Amino acid sequence: MNSSQPEGAALVLFSGGQDSATCLAWALDRYARVETIAFDYGQRHHVELTVRRAFLERLRAAFPGWAPRLGEDHLIDLAVLGQVSETALTREVEIRQAESGLPTTFVPGRNLLFLTFAAAVGHRRGIDVLVGGMCETDYSGYPDCRAGTMRAMQEALTLGMDRPIAIATPLMHLDKAETWALAQALGGAPLIELIRENTHTCYLGERGIRHDWGYGCGTCPACALRQRGHERWVASSAERAGVA
Ligand code: ZN
Repeated sequence: MNSSQPEGAALVLFSGGQDSATCLAWALDRYARVETIAFDYGQRHHVELTVRRAFLERLRAAFPGWAPRLGEDHLIDLAVLGQVSETALTREVEIRQAESGLPTTFVPGRNLLFLTFAAAVGHRRGIDVLVGGMCETDYSGYPDCRAGTMRAMQEALTLGMDRPIAIATPLMHLDKAETWALAQALGGAPLIELIRENTHTCYLGERGIRHDWGYGCGTCPACALRQRGHERWVASSAERAGVA
């Protein structure tokens, strides 16, 4: 997809979900060296952290062109975040819209902390580009996913670390159907299959049922979003095939 020669290094916030998996492929297409980072913050379900290891392994096997660029994986223990936040992702709290207007899955400041730790790891590894799947389209309205927050964070990190830090968010203005389309453009059918099979988005940690779009309960907001995006992408692909 990227016509120029890959150069430089990037650190991808790779949680094991669909969005960050697509970001990882995007980075492997552009950068000569790509490392990955994830955070264990006492999530109610550790499924994401388990599937991401299998994803990395299978990605290496299925994409020999990308494999030499894919470097170290960093897993950071952020248990303290689970201690200070009371949300549906870290406690037995119902997933719903809270009075604040935000879903109860919102972990306050999560992405700000993740990016700060990623920048610190990047500093040690000589990497100044951080790649994340933050997105303000078609999303739950998390304020720490907005483009404005990312711009401010980039500036704060650049000032605070006294070196230019770039935060790349390739999905920022894409909806979920367009995210599937981006994965298709980057890695074709093998990447789509890898995302369906080896990523996890479901808030309930359900992996018993395999749908067209992957595993999940099929009813939580994360599953609903992933499913709708997949349906729209499949429909628009079929339409394009019909035209051609
Ligand atoms: Zn679900």
